[in-house]
Amino acid sequence: MQKERVIIIGSGPAGLTAALYTARAQMDPLVIVGPQMGGQVAITHEVENYPGFVDGISGPDLIDVMSKQAERFGTRYAYEEVVEVDFTSGSPFTVKTHQNVYSADVVIVTAGASPRKLGVPGEDMLTGQGVSYCGTCDGFFFRGKDIVVIGGGDSALEEGIFLTRFANKVEIIHRRDELRGGATLQKRAFNNDKISFIWDTVVTEIRGDGMVNEVVLENVKTGEQTVHPTEGIFIFIGHYPNSNFLVDQLEMDEEGYVLTDELMRTSVPGVFAAGEIQDPIYRQVATSVGQGTAAAMQAEKWLSEHESELLEAVTAD
Ligand code: NAP
Repeated sequence: MQKERVIIIGSGPAGLTAALYTARAQMDPLVIVGPQMGGQVAITHEVENYPGFVDGISGPDLIDVMSKQAERFGTRYAYEEVVEVDFTSGSPFTVKTHQNVYSADVVIVTAGASPRKLGVPGEDMLTGQGVSYCGTCDGFFFRGKDIVVIGGGDSALEEGIFLTRFANKVEIIHRRDELRGGATLQKRAFNNDKISFIWDTVVTEIRGDGMVNEVVLENVKTGEQTVHPTEGIFIFIGHYPNSNFLVDQLEMDEEGYVLTDELMRTSVPGVFAAGEIQDPIYRQVATSVGQGTAAAMQAEKWLSEHESELLEAVTAD
């Protein structure tokens, strides 16, 4: 078993910031990267709302500089995925990947979340080529275009309204004839001249030759299929936290988001969480960076308060 002081699970902005802070605090962190270095940001075309970059920065470039900055102070990266943890037995915690078994005095969980996909043909192939899951990130690239938004919740309404700043026309396609989103957002969407609704309808295919140019729609009441021209499709049918490996280990809400307090503590002392694994609300690089900072500072404090106990336990073994 490989012994570590600090393990950070996940390598998005929260994880890389926690790595930077713990590395600068001489805690020698190991980041277990997960399926993709940088998480969702790594597939974001351009980030224009993270302070410090006047002209914006591409998602991959931002992750590149963040990871190098953390590495400069001694962060190590393991390109592995966590499959199982034992947190309930207390510190030192066990973290298993396909390749290794680690023990860690303190753990910071930053495994992130993933946007729910429609799961229809064309979706994966055209992601980044007209298929998007983030209005804030990609709206700017749809200036003057006709686009569709999928979903009937607060995210679809809020992002649909936001996207009218750029798009010529926004059609919100919802699978029912009644919205799930709150009354205020509904009113704002209904009153927006650029927004119209297509009810009782699902997307069954996304088509395009290089870029999206049409979607196939199906009316769920009549079964009628139509081909609908569009230049972009924004999908807001919810997110899911990447917390399967934490079931029965940390307290979560009914959606699987890890519960934390204002000090980023989870239900297990010595395990902290930051970023989208515990944040269903903001989901921004800037907020994840702040949460990663707080988690790292609290992890450092927890470790310094418990170092002598951990040392005694090792000596007794
Ligand atoms: P959500 O409330 O779960 O809504 C998801 C929407 O997508 C629903 O309308 C759902 O349809 C639809 N949907 C789900 N699966 C689908 C599929 N396979 N095909 C087509 N449509 C599908 O998710 P959300 O809008 O991301 O909101 C998540 C949470 O964040 C909510 O609690 C929300 O209130 C909150 N939030 C708040 C704000 C705000 O207050 N400003 C902004 C954003 C989010 P059905 O309605 O038929 O189930």
